[in-house]
Amino acid sequence: MPLLGRLVSGALDVALPATCSGCGLEGRPLCDTCLPALDARLGLPGGTPIGLPADIPAPLLQLDWCAPYAGAVRGALHDLKYSGERRLAEPLGAAIARRWARVGVGADVVVPVPVHAERERRRGYDQAALVATVAARDLGLPCVRALERRRATVAQFELGRDERASNVAGAFALRRDVPSGASSVVGRWVLLVDDVVTTGATLAACGEALVRAGARAVSAIALARER
Ligand SMILES: [Zn+2]
Repeated sequence: MPLLGRLVSGALDVALPATCSGCGLEGRPLCDTCLPALDARLGLPGGTPIGLPADIPAPLLQLDWCAPYAGAVRGALHDLKYSGERRLAEPLGAAIARRWARVGVGADVVVPVPVHAERERRRGYDQAALVATVAARDLGLPCVRALERRRATVAQFELGRDERASNVAGAFALRRDVPSGASSVVGRWVLLVDDVVTTGATLAACGEALVRAGARAVSAIALARER
């Protein structure tokens, strides 16, 4: 995005013409040609194991995703996160809902994986929360921002597989500033929503916090999976 676009996109998000994150075509944040990339796995059976079923990190019951982290999907997630293109939350959230409606088992409340509050303040929004809100709407489920990231963590992509789990262990907890936070997850089957999953360590750490808080079960879906 040109400098001017970067400067004003925060304030004039809706006024600027969108540019396709996949191919650069003007008009929409994802054009008709690139949009189907979000549904790359839509026809695949659910519960596709990462390696073996046991590889789904506890306490998650299910871990699914919409597409590989590549091409237009990668571009869209990057633009949502770093270019202020919040309009992408609509097609990305809708894709998550389509995939979950096809393969998801259970779940009665949607909870986004939170970014650290300081990062949200700088960015002006939490991209996973935006996507989760749209996905929950399409699934007809409530969306509750029940979790917070208690400490800033190193970006997972900078770490090896073993370091990732310890990086996020204990980093998440129920939000204290949401009075309904606990009651919204106690006894519930939570569907965690994140943008990108790699090992699932972040989702597992969130799942542990939710189980500690009284959630009955936790499943997870991400838009993309990075290998
Ligand atoms: Zn395109």
